[in-house]
Amino acid sequence: MKTEISLKRPTILLNPGPVTLSERVRRKFLEEDLCHREPEFAELVLDIKARLRRVYLEAESEYEAVIFTGSGTCAVEAIFQSLAPRKGKTLVIANGVYGERIASMLEVQGKPFALVKSPWPEPMNFGEAERLLQTDLSITHVAAIHNETTTGRLNDLDALGALCRKYGKPLLLDTVSSFAGEEIRFAEWNVAALASVANKCIHGAPGICFVLARKDLLESGKTEATSLYLDLFKMYKEQKTGFSPFTQATHICVLLQEALKELEEMGGWQTRRSRYRQIANRIRRAFIDFGLELFLPEESYCSMLTSFKLPAGRTYEQIHDALKAAGFVIYAGQAGLYHSIFRIANMGDILDSDVEHLVEAMAALLTE
Ligand SMILES: *Cc1c(COP(=O)(O)O)cnc(C)c1O
Repeated sequence: MKTEISLKRPTILLNPGPVTLSERVRRKFLEEDLCHREPEFAELVLDIKARLRRVYLEAESEYEAVIFTGSGTCAVEAIFQSLAPRKGKTLVIANGVYGERIASMLEVQGKPFALVKSPWPEPMNFGEAERLLQTDLSITHVAAIHNETTTGRLNDLDALGALCRKYGKPLLLDTVSSFAGEEIRFAEWNVAALASVANKCIHGAPGICFVLARKDLLESGKTEATSLYLDLFKMYKEQKTGFSPFTQATHICVLLQEALKELEEMGGWQTRRSRYRQIANRIRRAFIDFGLELFLPEESYCSMLTSFKLPAGRTYEQIHDALKAAGFVIYAGQAGLYHSIFRIANMGDILDSDVEHLVEAMAALLTE
């Protein structure tokens, strides 16, 4: 548990990325500028790729990391550009904004897909997914979101992985809001490729995203991409030397390396998940005591985000503005959920004292 006293705290970001940076990572911005064509940058990229591979020991020998300059969506789209087939069909199983976004990507790319869509508060519909896997023989790949940030539901990837293995379908996975903060079982879930980003559970700054994909796939597969920038195979090949065909967010890479070092030194994803759980529990217990209600059954939540029902008679803006005045940024519900929920993420460099201040600010707001 962190106990250091910090006199002046920055605004604490309780939105699901970007996150509040640690001092250690933030200070890296004060170092020298880096050119993406110089050997020291290539060395940095090779180190980042190696560190990304070993966040999960299981991935280290069989997966390779490829980095892109862009937000999380960029890495997700690189996967679907490069790996989703034009001849076969991708089965997308969605229960939120991000799952449905994968279907939108395939639609704009003109690639065949089948969408099994659940209402956002619901779990994935495995019954319908299995029915399609049995009957639609053109399905070649399965796509899903690990932690559906729309609600904070940690999807049941053990169940989905079992289906992928049973029907022999590679899984293309969005772990944008779970990588480094939840368990990922690469073999059990039949993961061919996953996408994530520097500025969520890794605690880096926004601007760099990455794909971890099976090395044999990257070596032997051929691209389905109709985009030059998002071609995973091209990027993988060129990045073997640490160089990239296009300018990378060099400064953000420096911060990412530091964030990965910090993650490793603090005990890796397991320690990070325990810390997230500790903070999330404190917030959930306190808010429930104040009479707020969770949007999902408590056991469905991930470690890094909670969705609460908006209390009667309060708008999102009222809660947002009062907490912002107290030094916290929270997050609204998306689309149809805007008027029914608010979200509190708990990634980033958050101290126990920050959490206590948040709880006090919420208590003050609800009793005024
Ligand atoms: C944050 C997030 C993304 C990517 O969003 P960007 O705004 O492009 O960074 C994708 N999927 C999930 C599940 C996310 O939480």
